Amino acid sequence: MDATQTIGIMAQLTTIKTFTYPHEAYVIRGKLESEGIRTFLKDEMTVQVYNFYSNAVGGVKLQVFAEDADKALDILDNVEKPSREVAVFCKKEIEDTLACPFCRSENISRMKKPNWLTLIPFLIVGFIFPVYRSSYICFECGKHWILKK
Ligand SMILES: [Zn+2]
Repeated sequence: MDATQTIGIMAQLTTIKTFTYPHEAYVIRGKLESEGIRTFLKDEMTVQVYNFYSNAVGGVKLQVFAEDADKALDILDNVEKPSREVAVFCKKEIEDTLACPFCRSENISRMKKPNWLTLIPFLIVGFIFPVYRSSYICFECGKHWILKK
């Protein structure tokens, strides 16, 4: 491959996945970036402003350079399944609330402003939790969990 071809490919972005909710895209994005893949989110703002109409605008599009697409899709396969599972923990069950209870990584993010979007996955999997506390995402293993009192 000569230099001209490389430049041509670099300029091309490929959509590898479309997300209905921005926070789903952030988890995957964090994982891809940690693997050294540049990522771009398209229509992120549109979805945030018109979040009720996420499906109408086609969701948030996660894009990578075309040359990274294969690697990104491989990572996506590994990350996707665990990220859809939501675990519920009592605070007293977890020794360290600043680390992932699954892989012990401290590369986690707490979603401080719960809104109805963050509740959707819980509703889908049928969890009922009267006291909503904090929702966490691990960028290392892609797991998603909440803590309740
Ligand atoms: Zn983890």
